[in-house]
Amino acid sequence: MARYTGSVCKLCRREGAKLFLKGDRCMTSKCAMERRAYAPGDHGSARGRRQRKPSDYALQLREKQKVRRIYGVLERQFRRYFAEAERMPGLTGENLLQLLERRLDNVVYRLGLADSRAQARQLVNHAHLAVNGRRVDIPSYIVHVGDVIQVRETSRGNTYFKDHAKSLGRRTTPPWLTLDPKTLEGRVTALPARSDVDITLNEQLVVEYYSR
Ligand code: SF4
Repeated sequence: MARYTGSVCKLCRREGAKLFLKGDRCMTSKCAMERRAYAPGDHGSARGRRQRKPSDYALQLREKQKVRRIYGVLERQFRRYFAEAERMPGLTGENLLQLLERRLDNVVYRLGLADSRAQARQLVNHAHLAVNGRRVDIPSYIVHVGDVIQVRETSRGNTYFKDHAKSLGRRTTPPWLTLDPKTLEGRVTALPARSDVDITLNEQLVVEYYSR
């Protein structure tokens, strides 16, 4: 499947917010948003200086792009998530975030087994993970309550996982997941609630964008 391969820091600069797409680097002074917090391109800084009040449409579009970029989802798939969120009972915006949180690549990231969602996606793609004992190499796989996410037996000896096991616990595991650091086994104990999404987002703007 096609995916964005350009500079991810440019995406943060475009959205004017830290999207935490690069793992540890995002927490350091090397973060591009610390040094050049204006839109990329020749006129990015000039545009920033003579900022006009953005239209409602511009706000909705930027918020939609922000959510999409944080979770690394392309437009077509994002629209599918939105359509599914609309069919679900409850608030569409919250349903959308819940579906995105339940993606396997996000779960691997949230468990702390990867430093970024992009890295988690690669781990899943390279078949290092199993769900309920069965190999799953689809990053968009949606987890359910009770699912057990494991690093596969054959991958547990990898230097990556050995090193990573030492640094586990640096990030707090969200309340809807549990992780056993010894076995690198995670479990989905509940569905993620809106308050479990640890990024500042206004999902209502996304709903308004697609409801135009
Ligand atoms: Fe965004 Fe991280 Fe790059 Fe900073 S380092 S601009 S937060 S991706």
